[in-house]
Amino acid sequence: MATAIAIDGPAGAGKSTIAKKIAERLNFIYVDTGAMYRAMGLYFHRLGIRPEDEEAISRLAGQAEVSLSYENGMQQVYLNGENVTALLRTEEAGNMASAVSVYPEVRRILVRQQQKLAATQDVVMDGRDIGTVVLPRAQVKIFLTASVKVRADRRCADLRQKGLPFERENVEKDIEERDYRDTHRAESPLRQAEDAVLVDTSDMTIDQVAERVIELYREREKTERGEA
Ligand code: C5P
Repeated sequence: MATAIAIDGPAGAGKSTIAKKIAERLNFIYVDTGAMYRAMGLYFHRLGIRPEDEEAISRLAGQAEVSLSYENGMQQVYLNGENVTALLRTEEAGNMASAVSVYPEVRRILVRQQQKLAATQDVVMDGRDIGTVVLPRAQVKIFLTASVKVRADRRCADLRQKGLPFERENVEKDIEERDYRDTHRAESPLRQAEDAVLVDTSDMTIDQVAERVIELYREREKTERGEA
């Protein structure tokens, strides 16, 4: 049976950095589900459909074919055959993703795809609802968090490094708004699964967090083998 490590948490908690690192160490596939919602967001943005237009979004979501592939170990995201990976990391794409991800039809389509990916391969999957909805039977579940200030600092450093424009005040405001939307939506809100381990990364380095998750995975392996 394939193994899954589910990593959920709010925007900027370090999920993708950590998930990528762990996937590399364990030779698992890294699945960035946020990128799939971002690609959906981009699809509707290009069509000029407002995020409030649930009827149009639900009707057309099935026409946005979002798929993932891996080139040199890096996840590439395709939208109807076009590689859109480079267009997905902007704040605008993130906000659009958060807005369209509230709709059940969008979630239904992407969740099904995520479950398929995890059925046959060992995955480290990050998102908001992985431990609660997508992979409720994941062997290891982590809820990664950090203070809003630390998360905004990280997001700014990330945007600076990518040469993308930003204003610190807006980044912090966006994080707060996105947290609110992600935790208050009716459909699969962001919440810690009962059996997830909470890891607050505010005062931890990337390596410390990765080490902690791998430790939890090894402990779990031992338990499954009946050694613990
Ligand atoms: O993780 P990332 O910031 O790329 O996700 C973008 C947005 O997509 C999130 O703010 C969230 O609203 C949505 N999302 C989701 N469920 C997931 C992953 C992301 O609703 N599993």
